[in-house]
Amino acid sequence: MTHKWRPATLAIHGPVKRRKAHHAVSTPIVHTSNYSFESTSEVYEFMKAKAEGRIIREHEYGRYFNPTQQEAERKLAAIEGAERAILFSSGMSAVILALMACMKKDGHIIFTGDCYRQTRDFATNLLPRFSVETSLVEPNALAIEKAIRPNTNIIFTESPTNPYLRVLDIPAIVKVARRRKILTMIDATLATPFNLRPLDSGVDIVLHSATKYLGGHNDLLAGVALGRHALLEDLGKLQRMIGATPGPLTCFLLERGLKTFGLRMEHHNQAGLKVARFLESHPKAVKVWYPGLKSHPDHRIARAQMRGFGSVISFLVKGNDKATRRFIDSLALFLITPSLGGSESLVTQMSMMSFFDYSVEARESIGIVDNLVRIALGLEDVDDLIADLNQALDRV
Ligand SMILES: *Cc1c(COP(=O)(O)O)cnc(C)c1O
Repeated sequence: MTHKWRPATLAIHGPVKRRKAHHAVSTPIVHTSNYSFESTSEVYEFMKAKAEGRIIREHEYGRYFNPTQQEAERKLAAIEGAERAILFSSGMSAVILALMACMKKDGHIIFTGDCYRQTRDFATNLLPRFSVETSLVEPNALAIEKAIRPNTNIIFTESPTNPYLRVLDIPAIVKVARRRKILTMIDATLATPFNLRPLDSGVDIVLHSATKYLGGHNDLLAGVALGRHALLEDLGKLQRMIGATPGPLTCFLLERGLKTFGLRMEHHNQAGLKVARFLESHPKAVKVWYPGLKSHPDHRIARAQMRGFGSVISFLVKGNDKATRRFIDSLALFLITPSLGGSESLVTQMSMMSFFDYSVEARESIGIVDNLVRIALGLEDVDDLIADLNQALDRV
């Protein structure tokens, strides 16, 4: 059969196979920390094969791998169109270990601004301690190209970014990087493989916080790195060494959540556009950032490379800190919490949540003003969400 299955289908079946463990339609949770052998000769054969680089049985010890994880990884690799997926206990462990597996002493890594707070902190506070130079540049292809030094060996980007939903021209970045043999990594959490296909554009390693849209229910923490076998070899070793492995229950929840991935993303994309348009037309929302809006600075790039634009929207409330807090406190459905991509709609005032410890000047220098609000739509009826936003904005 030559037909290529689409992401929504692969999210349910993974790489299609009829034979299933215990004939179970859903993936069994194998809750064990270690795996036993029947005899010393079985141990001997296993260890000998391992020393020769052959795998005759996957399971040995829980820090290395678990069978539920294996199913989730196979499915994620199929959805992303990757040779291999490695699951992690969080998005951040995927990001940090991917960087650690590929970074070089005296090397230079380019990061793009408007990036995830913890990634920014790792880049600016921790990496210099390991004799790794870093640059944090504007999130666009030209700024990245200008920042390249002779020792640059990794370009690490996000797309869309957060909170400003900047969308990077990925083919342009890959072109620049390939010419100089620089590795490209993208944290595509906000896009998901439903909306963006970075590997098809030649990106080397794709990362996601599976805590968000992939898990989709605000009930688990996980991360995933995807790419070619050879590139992920060291990363896999590091992950098994450290034990940044997700537990069997987490893997089950993730794999189960993926069954509705296609449906959820269709909904998120439609709801995102509808709510962004509503906000843009509302007099109490003075500026709205959503890549699907014509007014967004990267709308043209987003349209060219994304299938949809997801359900994260940032906007400025007309008024000061107090007015913004009044708006948020007046919302009935939106839960006040960070994160995104789950069934419940969430709201955060960025200055208070992710950047509270920054000085006002430091915050404003990266565009985090008091009246900046980020919403992440869930799976509720979109007209109810609009009604809720409307009544809360009316109280500003
Ligand atoms: C949430 C998030 C992370 C971190 O993921 P965790 O699963 O919380 O560790 C990294 N990058 C982006 C873009 C995120 O949204």
